[in-house]
Amino acid sequence: MKTTPARTIAELKELRELTGDENGAQRVAFTEPWAKARAWLRNKVEAFCPDIHTDEAGNFWATLRGGSDKALLIGGHIDSVPNGGWLDGCLNTLAGVEVLRRIHAQYNGRPPVTVRLVDWADEEGARFGKSLFGSSACSGHLDMDEARELRDKQGVTLPSALAQHGIDFEKVKECGEELANAAAYLELHIEQGPVLLDLDRPLGTVLGTFGVERHAINFHGQAAHSGSTPMNRRKDAFLAAAKMSSEIYRITDRNGGVCTIGSCTTKPGIVTSVVEECRITLDQRHLDAAALARMLAEAKEASERFAEEGNVTVSWERLWQIEPILFNSDLIALCDEAISDTGADPHRLPSGPLHDAAEVARFGIPTIMMFVQSLHGISHNKIEDTKEEHLDLAVTAFDKLADKALRWIERSAAR
Ligand SMILES: [Zn+2]
Repeated sequence: MKTTPARTIAELKELRELTGDENGAQRVAFTEPWAKARAWLRNKVEAFCPDIHTDEAGNFWATLRGGSDKALLIGGHIDSVPNGGWLDGCLNTLAGVEVLRRIHAQYNGRPPVTVRLVDWADEEGARFGKSLFGSSACSGHLDMDEARELRDKQGVTLPSALAQHGIDFEKVKECGEELANAAAYLELHIEQGPVLLDLDRPLGTVLGTFGVERHAINFHGQAAHSGSTPMNRRKDAFLAAAKMSSEIYRITDRNGGVCTIGSCTTKPGIVTSVVEECRITLDQRHLDAAALARMLAEAKEASERFAEEGNVTVSWERLWQIEPILFNSDLIALCDEAISDTGADPHRLPSGPLHDAAEVARFGIPTIMMFVQSLHGISHNKIEDTKEEHLDLAVTAFDKLADKALRWIERSAAR
């Protein structure tokens, strides 16, 4: 039995009409357009799957009870950033609805293992600045003390915004029970970058999400008059910091991964003074933990060398860090197979952005993501787009992956 990808594309357009405007998608979590999108989704799913509920964190679950309690989970997020694209997150959810329809029809409502669709609440963190809310509540990683204090631009706290949607903040982690019987988690997503586009491949198998090291680096020199201070007598904090700019390209040449110096501030920051203090931020990402550690050590060593050369001092401050999260190797192989089955060439790649799938994988559930090519390599923007023929192929390949994962769960349950 086959899926009908054209229905998914039609539903994506229907959702865009319902909750978007001339600036793009407006489904920011815990707002009216988001609630409207959720009601619309509920309506679609209820038509064939009556077992629906919203958990303590506002995640939406639809369940086809199977012969075994072991569950195949398919996830997505219908929330968007303000002025967002028409595919980020909702493609995952609506492809999941289509797969659920196919499984329901094929097995007369009772598949061999339980199959569940989850639409996570507030993946984007667009309003309160904290992404992966629903999935991190479910995985148990949500920092309650931090989240309790979060406020939007109007000063509304996260707990009070949740209360308006019937969610009791203090109970959100109780939704962890939903993962009790989960045996595999699948998520389809647009790539949001240019890798598949540049390789001319429609689909990719995601190996995991990058580990991240995020630091502020402070160089400290001495302010001095720009006219009276000879060049050889300067303690120029900016000169040392500026050398880091080309160094990060050498570091990624050696190790792979990506590095970004995203900000630079100088003091006193006036045109007539040598820079006394220069603060830059460094963001380093890699799928391999050892390589990420090497990248960080090399950046530290270089900063000390440049400081010494320039007669200034340097100090480091960690802003944030997360380890690489690797997806399941069996499911990676099944994802390659599913892509090949559609006639496309599979390509394996890491994910730069974090996704709900990373939270599920951190919880210990075998997880895989499939990427579909993004045109312009752009997302979080109304110009975000993917060719319809690629969306069609993505839904077909994702359905094949679901079928393979279902059998994989059956086999492992039998062992
Ligand atoms: Zn997304």
